[in-house]
Formats: sequence, C-alpha cells, structure tokens
Amino acid sequence: MRLVLVGPPGAGKGTQAEFIAEHFRVPKISTGDIFRANVSGGTELGQRAKRFMDAGDLVPDVVTNAMVRDRLAQPDATDGFLLDGFPRNVAQAGELDGILDEIGSTLSVVLDLDVDHDEVVRRLSGRRTCKNCGHVWHVEFDPPASENACDKCGGELYHRDDDSPETVRHRLEIYAQQTAPLVQFYDNRSQLVAINALGTVEDVTERAIDALTPFAD
Ligand code: AMP
Repeated sequence: MRLVLVGPPGAGKGTQAEFIAEHFRVPKISTGDIFRANVSGGTELGQRAKRFMDAGDLVPDVVTNAMVRDRLAQPDATDGFLLDGFPRNVAQAGELDGILDEIGSTLSVVLDLDVDHDEVVRRLSGRRTCKNCGHVWHVEFDPPASENACDKCGGELYHRDDDSPETVRHRLEIYAQQTAPLVQFYDNRSQLVAINALGTVEDVTERAIDALTPFAD
C-alpha cells in the first residue's frame, strides 16, 4: 500500500495518518513532523527549513525532495508507506513519480480529506501537539486529561508557532495556490479518493479505511 494523504492544513491529516498507517501496517511519513524534529534538534536541515515554516510557506522543493528521497530509501518503506504532507505541489508529485519509477513502483491511491474553510480555522486554533511523539490533541474536540501533557507518552504539549491566526490564513492561501492544483492533478489521473473529513475522529477514520481498503494489496 503506497498512500498519499492530502487536504488543507487542519483537515486532520496528521491525526488520521496515525490510524490509517496503523491499520494498513505501513510507516507514516510526515514531512511536517520530520522538519519539526530537525528544527528542535537544531540540525542543518532544521535551520534551512525553519524560516519557511515559521512564515507558513513551503520549504523549497530541493530541500524537501532530498529529505523525502532519503526517507523512502529506508528499509521500512520498501513494502509501502503513508505520506502525510508530501507532495504539496505538482512539482513534488513529479519528484515522487520519479522516485517510485526508479524502484518500479507506483502509488496505490491518494486520499483527499475534505473540510470547509471555517472548520479548518477552528480546528487549527485549538490544536496542541506533543513535542515527544507528535500526537495532535485539540482543546475542544479531543482534549488531553491534563492541559500540558500528552496522554499517550507524557510528553509536553505545545501550540505550533505556525498555528497563529495570521500564519494559518497564509498557510490556507498557500494551500489554495499550490496544493489544491495537486488534488486536481491526481483526480485527472484517476488516483484520487475523497472523503468528508467532518465528524468525530473515529467516524473519519472509518470512512478513510472503507475508502482505502479496495486499494490494499
Ligand atoms: P505540516 O505539519 O504538514 O502542516 O507542515 C508544517 C510545515 O512544514 C509547512 O507549513 C511547511 O513549511 C513545511 N512542509 C511540510 N511538508 C512540506 C512539503 N511537502 N513541502 C514544503 N514544505 C513542507
């Protein structure tokens, strides 16, 4: 199963990616998580990515593509993967095609999480992310037992810098300009399956698994 998850910021990609990856037993590869880990770790990659992330812009393709190429070459990704947050534009989709071509493979399916603009803003403003395991909580919809600690691993929770209202607005513009055409691109190739991403986390997971199961090997 070689899966890509698309949808606007706040559609629930990170949350659903965890459950979907677990269900289909493939590694979840989230470019946002990898970038954030590199920023926290103070690596060179993190230093190159940080200012773009803080501004809500895309990290340049040369940096992102090289990182994804390395990650997909890891042994755990040979039998399948779930990409969360990559590709983010049509050029990155071309790069992914190239990487898969080299190993004689293709994508199984692209899942689009569909939510409207107002809901996305509401979700992002209440989001709290675990510094340790990356799990995403929501102060209103999925609150952790204690305000500042992750129920899963005890890690510290934080509000992402790029979830501030201004940066959220900018990220949504970037999505409309650069990532929405990608949805059309995959739809034109008949590789896209869209689901309604409104509702409880469990409901959306069920819809996602139902939509994806026909594509499992
Ligand atoms: P995310 O956690 O997916 O919302 O990603 C957080 C930030 O990481 C984005 O706003 C971008 O700055 C950067 N990022 C993540 N994935 C990509 C990508 N595929 N291409 C460029 N930048 C990315």
